[in-house]
Amino acid sequence: MSIIVQKFGGTSVADAGKIHRAARRAIRAKLDGHQVVLTISAMGKTTDQLVALAAEVNPDPPKREMDMLLTTGEQVSISLMAMAIAAAGHEAISFTGGQIGMVTDASHTKARIRSIDAQRIHEHLDADRIVIVAGFQGITEEGAVTTLGRGGSDTTAVALAAVLNAALCEIYTDVDGVYTTDPRIVPQARKMNQVSYDEMLELASLGAGVMHSRSIEFGKKYNVPIHVRSSLTDAEGTMIVPETTGMEGIVVRGVTLKRDMATVALIGVPNKPGVAATIFARVARHNIVVDDIIQNIYEHGHEANIGFTTSKADVREAAALCEEMARDVGIRSVEVDENVAKVSIVGIGMKSHTGVAAKAFNALSTAQINIQNISTSEIVISCIVDQKDGEHALQVLHAAFDLDKAPD
Ligand code: ADP
Ligand code: ASP
Ligand code: MG
Repeated sequence: MSIIVQKFGGTSVADAGKIHRAARRAIRAKLDGHQVVLTISAMGKTTDQLVALAAEVNPDPPKREMDMLLTTGEQVSISLMAMAIAAAGHEAISFTGGQIGMVTDASHTKARIRSIDAQRIHEHLDADRIVIVAGFQGITEEGAVTTLGRGGSDTTAVALAAVLNAALCEIYTDVDGVYTTDPRIVPQARKMNQVSYDEMLELASLGAGVMHSRSIEFGKKYNVPIHVRSSLTDAEGTMIVPETTGMEGIVVRGVTLKRDMATVALIGVPNKPGVAATIFARVARHNIVVDDIIQNIYEHGHEANIGFTTSKADVREAAALCEEMARDVGIRSVEVDENVAKVSIVGIGMKSHTGVAAKAFNALSTAQINIQNISTSEIVISCIVDQKDGEHALQVLHAAFDLDKAPD
């Protein structure tokens, strides 16, 4: 019997009616002959409300306690889901991350999954139950409760699909699939029928909030077919699948905006071996996620400027660390800009097409948008722009690559 993992996001379980609707979908899959595992997010805006509540009590809450608080949201929704399924006459059982042996590392608020105890889940599936697992949470070897980072329920779902060897992982959300860009910002955005793991991984890590990027890493590594679709309709959504030859025909698959970015620049860094290693080892030790790194050398090679981008959430801590290092390593000054955004274009077709960067830069320049920094990889071109230009830049790039039109 094949296993299906279905994940319902916050808006898909926002009230009792929606919980019943999601429950019916799970039951339908079971009646179709599958073993069904559900991953549920906290209801509606619960997680946002808990974050706001914490901020009222303590502007800089201990991360361990933040995890303790946020995991309660999913505990509410999983139990209600089990009740809804029971009310419809079927058997279901809910589990927290800890109960199901979802073991993570100890980096609170952005923990990574280490292992999952699939045995427990199989036993209940074999007993004909729908198994409901709390999204976005885990437990450390020492028993501390952790979370996987905002949006992390997608990762719970795909990781479960991977360990259970599921035939499919369905992600039910409030849009009917993955779009060429966020339809809330660019109404002309179009739904894609399929996207490769590599493209989706880039789109997700560069700001396409529809999927948690770690989930795509799991999907790719374990070859889990992922279907992103609407919880409100039966329409086909977007399949996230391995790359196929035809896919390279589309040069740019999508564009993204990452708003809450900041840059930290270390000015006058001694240009000698080991300095960059020291700086970034210290930054990493504090679990600060560094995005792009830029280094320029000047003064006949004696000095360098090293800049990096990071999230706004981490920038204060990053800047404080860099100030400390400036004293230790002899760096002249540290400059922070908290008002930047990153726009990116993504597509595996870029590997085999030329002139893509020129077209992107030209579109931004025609729109009078200044590019502060450029970074590229095989299938991505990203530009750092002023925060206030972010949405405009996204619209401009979306139009420049004709993403509002159906591909040939
Ligand atoms: P859920 O609570 O179901 O996990 P999310 O809010 O995390 O839902 O993700 C869905 C939202 O992601 C959509 O409402 C949409 O505004 C946003 N989004 C951003 N980029 C994209 C994209 N490229 N395609 C589809 N949705 C996107
Ligand atoms: N409830 C969590 C959040 O809002 C996890 C998730 O929904 O994926 O971030
Ligand atoms: Mg989400």
